[in-house]
Amino acid sequence: MTTCRRRHKLLLPVLWCIIALASLVVLGPTGTTAEDADQPSLAQVESSHAPPTARASTALAASQAFLPNPAVAAMLAQVQQSTLYTYTGQLSGEWPALIGGVPYTITTRYTDSGTPIQMATQYVYEHMQALSLTVSYHDWTYLGHSNRNAVGVLTGTTHPDEIVLVTAHLDDMPSLGLAPGADDNASGSAGVLVAADILHQYQFERTLRFVFFTGEEQWLWGSHEYAESVYNAGDNIVAVYNMDMIAWNSDISPTLWLHTRRPDNPGYAGDLAIAGVFTNVVDVYGLSGDLTPVITADGTSASDHSSFWNKGYSAILAIEDWNDRNEHYHTSNDRLQFLDMTYFTNYVKASVGTAAHLACPLQEAGILTGVVSDAITFMPIAGAQVQVKSGLCPTHTGISDSEGVYSLTLPVGVYSVTASASRYWPNTALGVVITSTAPEDLDMPLIPVRFTYMPLVFKNAL
Ligand SMILES: [Zn+2]
Repeated sequence: MTTCRRRHKLLLPVLWCIIALASLVVLGPTGTTAEDADQPSLAQVESSHAPPTARASTALAASQAFLPNPAVAAMLAQVQQSTLYTYTGQLSGEWPALIGGVPYTITTRYTDSGTPIQMATQYVYEHMQALSLTVSYHDWTYLGHSNRNAVGVLTGTTHPDEIVLVTAHLDDMPSLGLAPGADDNASGSAGVLVAADILHQYQFERTLRFVFFTGEEQWLWGSHEYAESVYNAGDNIVAVYNMDMIAWNSDISPTLWLHTRRPDNPGYAGDLAIAGVFTNVVDVYGLSGDLTPVITADGTSASDHSSFWNKGYSAILAIEDWNDRNEHYHTSNDRLQFLDMTYFTNYVKASVGTAAHLACPLQEAGILTGVVSDAITFMPIAGAQVQVKSGLCPTHTGISDSEGVYSLTLPVGVYSVTASASRYWPNTALGVVITSTAPEDLDMPLIPVRFTYMPLVFKNAL
C-alpha cells in the first residue's frame, strides 16, 4: 500500500485519494490483510511458547521465505569437503590431532573414558580459541558423573542478548575399546567446528554460541545441565540447531530429517520456524538437488535438542535419514571411510546457512526510506514510528523527522513495515524487498482516527 506518495503532494486529485482511503478502511483500520492474519504475530508466539517463568526467551515467529544473501552465499562457498574430512578424521582417531601443542590420537570419546574425552574437549576448545571466540568449559555433574561441555561465543552486534545455539555432542560409543564415532557424532562436531571457522569472520545481529556436549550417549547429561544453567541464568535462547549424525547416506536419495516437536505441542511453531530456515536455505542457495529435507514432527527426544525443549526453548535435531541408518551405529566400525562426504558437505553447507540466517547477518545492507504523512491533508507526520521486521530477525525501528522522512539501513531481505503515530491508525506494508543495489522508497500515509467513519458517509453519498 504505497499510494499517495510524496511526489503527488497536493496536486493529486482529491477524489482519487478518497477512493484509496475507502479501500484502506475496507481492509481494516490497521491496514492488515488476510495474508497478514495467517502470520502469527511475535507477541502471539511469545505468549504461547515461552518457558514457564518470567525469564522467557523470544521464540522466533513463523519463518518467512527470504532472499539469498550474497554474504551467506559466500559463507556456504567456504565449506570444504577436505576440511570436514580432516576434522572428522582427527576426532575419530584416524590420525593424531594437535592438542595442547602435542600430537594425540583420540581412540575414544566415551564420556567416562577419562583422558581421551578430556583431550577431545580440549581439542574443540583450542580450535575455537584459535578463532578468537570467547571460550569456556561448562563443568557438569549429573547422577554421580562429571565431565565438561565446551562453549565458544561470537557476540552479536545489535541484539547480543538474543542467542542462537549451534550444537553437537562430542562424546560417543561404544563404552569399551576403540570408539571412533565418525558419524555419531564426529560428523556433527565437525559441522560445528566448520560453522565456527566460517561464521566468526562475519558480524551478526544475534549472538552465536557453538556448544559441544558430553554425556549425550548416557541420556543427555551434559546438555541437561547446560540447558538448566542457561535457563537459570535467564539467557534468551531464541533457537537451538543441533547436529547429530549428518554424514551417512548409503542410498541414492540425499534425504535428511529435521525433528521438531509434535504439531499439538505449543512449542511446535518455534521449532518449525527453525526448520523453515533450513528448507529456505536449501531452496535459495541452490542445494535442492543435493539435499532432500524432511521435517519430522514426532518430538523425538533422543538427542541434546530435547534438553532445550524441556526448558521451553525452540530447538530442532538435524540428522540423516533414519530409514537409511548407519549399519555401524555405536560400534568400533563407525569410521570415516564409510561416510558419504558429498552428502556430509552439503549438509554442513545448509547448516552454516541456517545458523547464519538464524543469527541475522549484518553484511549486504540496503536502505529503506520514505515519508510518513497524513492521508487526508498530505502533511508530513513528525515523530512517527516505523517498525520493520521479518518473521525471522529482530525488529528495526526508525522515527520520522520534522519533514516526515524516515530512513533505515537494513540487511537485505523481505520485510513487513508498519508506520504508527498517535491519533492515526497504523499502516502496514507487506513483502517490502530490500536490496543492496538501490534504496527502497516506501511512503506511508496514515489515516487519522477521526476519519474512521468517513467511508460510510462517502458510500452513502454515492
Ligand atoms: Zn549421537
